[in-house]
Amino acid sequence: MASATQGRPSLWRPSMFSVTWQASTWLGWAIVVLSVVRLSPEALQAMGEPLLMIAAVIVISELRPIVMTRLIGNPVSISLAFVFATMYLWGLYPAVLLYAGSVLLSEFIQRKPPWKFLFNVGQYTCSMAAAWAVLHLAGVQPSPFDPHAGLSASDLWWIVTSWIVYHLVNLALVAGLAEDGESTWWEDFSDQFWFYTFATLAVLALSPLIAIVAVATPYSWTLLPLLLLPLLAVQKTAEMSRKQEHQALHDPLTGLPNRLLLTDRIEQALVRSGRTEGSVLVMFLDLDLFKVVNDSLGHHAGDALLIDVARRLQSAVRPGDTLARFGGDEFVIVCDGIAADEVTTVPERISASLMQPFASLEREVTVSASIGVALATDTSDAQTLIRDADVAMYRAKERGRNQVVLFHQVMHQEADERLQDSVGLRRALDRDEFRLHYQPVVEVATGQTIGMEAMIRWQDPHRGLLDAGTFIPAAEETGLIVPIGYWVIDTAIAQVQSWRTKIPQASHLWVAVNISSRQLLAPGLVDHLGRTLQETGVPASAVHLEITESALMSDLSAVVERLAALRSLGLRLAIDDFGTGYSSLAYLKRLPVTTVKIDRSFVNGLGGAEDAFDRPIVDAIIKMAQSLHLDVVAEGVETREQLVTLQALGTRAAQGFLWSPPLPEQEVPDWITAHVPAL
Ligand code: C2E
Ligand code: MG
Ligand code: MG
Repeated sequence: MASATQGRPSLWRPSMFSVTWQASTWLGWAIVVLSVVRLSPEALQAMGEPLLMIAAVIVISELRPIVMTRLIGNPVSISLAFVFATMYLWGLYPAVLLYAGSVLLSEFIQRKPPWKFLFNVGQYTCSMAAAWAVLHLAGVQPSPFDPHAGLSASDLWWIVTSWIVYHLVNLALVAGLAEDGESTWWEDFSDQFWFYTFATLAVLALSPLIAIVAVATPYSWTLLPLLLLPLLAVQKTAEMSRKQEHQALHDPLTGLPNRLLLTDRIEQALVRSGRTEGSVLVMFLDLDLFKVVNDSLGHHAGDALLIDVARRLQSAVRPGDTLARFGGDEFVIVCDGIAADEVTTVPERISASLMQPFASLEREVTVSASIGVALATDTSDAQTLIRDADVAMYRAKERGRNQVVLFHQVMHQEADERLQDSVGLRRALDRDEFRLHYQPVVEVATGQTIGMEAMIRWQDPHRGLLDAGTFIPAAEETGLIVPIGYWVIDTAIAQVQSWRTKIPQASHLWVAVNISSRQLLAPGLVDHLGRTLQETGVPASAVHLEITESALMSDLSAVVERLAALRSLGLRLAIDDFGTGYSSLAYLKRLPVTTVKIDRSFVNGLGGAEDAFDRPIVDAIIKMAQSLHLDVVAEGVETREQLVTLQALGTRAAQGFLWSPPLPEQEVPDWITAHVPAL
């Protein structure tokens, strides 16, 4: 795709202009040229078969490169052992040529960009030359391994020192490439140190043996390939650890970086950019209506689509950008070195890349994405950038999906007040953070449970479990109560069906669901309930709807019509919090309801100090309900005195902490087994 390379040349990197890149590349290549000039054909011939065999082994090993990459990293090659052996035997020049050749071969196989292999050849050559300088200064002449020259113990010490010098110079040059700032250099250096030290030393440890075997007897060089075996074992181990690392850092479905690696990449990008304002851009991308694909075509198709989307996105991002799967249908893209005009063009290009339908599924699917974009500030870190982009993404969803929205600090303040924020509630719904708890409703005479009232809770990842009262008002205000309410209805009905079929005593248990006024008047409620009942096979009489008295008083004729339609489905309808809405008896008579729930505030005072005030009210409510042939449920019963009074006044059903608070769903089966009579 042509657009993939827009914006930044992919072959050359800014780090090319760093002092480290320039110095090590030029110096290294100068040494390579010097080696070519100084190495006469006669000298090469004198090295004979052992050198040829070493060269052959290097080619074989490079064809299967050992690459131990960490988050950032350079390869540790097993050719290194043979190159060092060459250096002990015949000095720097043949070693440099072999090494440069092996690096070129390996980089070619791995299709590294030119800036990288130019640097790598230079960098390895410089490291090699540093090692050689140690040997040279220490007076370890070429060929200490020659059986006629003899190898002393002090030579060995210097040899080990040369390895260490090689390794340190190598790491320092690579780390120096990443960034010019001093602290970063040190971070990179120490970050890579332990990981590479062990592997490099394990490889180099074999180099003296290679040298000995190469020249021990006239034909001992034929044994050299044998030494590849232990080196391959090192390689295998390294590969395995690399694979494990890969698994820990990548999403198994798409193979893209996961959250952990994403965070690291953002931090790196921030460091590279020197935390310059606006230079790092993070896009949070959420597929619109992905759930529909999953639900209608199945999870298998959903997975296939995600893989296709990942591919499409990968080809739309620029080389060097990071595309990560954040979870579910969420992807995050990180771009650095962004120019001001690219802040809008890049996300739009990404969004456009998804426009073509996806054809690999059984049916062509069109996908769009809501994209939130956040730009780094000088105080950004990975977490805040992701969070900001996420908040902006939810704005994009709110504005009707398939949009790109740039994060603004104002959104942040709003997001902080998530309680009042529809973004937070919508996110909670999308992320399945709502739960239902169930409070038993008991028959006061026997203490047996006859039904369960579903009460919504929000399992907020940051604030813990929240009660309905803390977020239902915001949900009602923003209208989100409608989708949330459908979720409650579906979940509660499916749940009661599961209890009714799985637990023998529960076959007559009913569930009560709270409905707010907006939900009651929303078009589609009656159809939705009708459909859900039909699909689950739950009898309508097993579902009670509770509507607060104040909600019923809003638009009487519309409410009556709606209640009548619900009643005709066979549902039972309760007036919740009765006594708090100031409704008149005449009004009550017109509502087609089946039950009255006496508000907790009146029950509270019964049998206590307030008894003289509350008893007559409760008494009147019960009498009125009886005369209208309505069931009565007393709410919020907490004490035995309240219960005794309620019983004396003729209440048949009640609920409250006296029996149980609302229970998490998984505790209900045990409750039913203990408190519902067998029929
Ligand atoms: P509600 O329907 O009158 O529910 C009773 C509330 O009183 C619940 O609070 C319950 O936990 C609490 N409660 C139960 N027994 C006792 C007791 O003995 N003493 C005391 N002090 N409190 C008791 P919650 O769950 O916070 O719900 C508050 C209100 O939020 C509910 O009042 C209901 O109107 C609404 N609500 C709850 N779940 C939903 C829902 O799924 N949809 C809608 N639209 N509204 C809901
Ligand atoms: Mg209720
Ligand atoms: Mg109530």
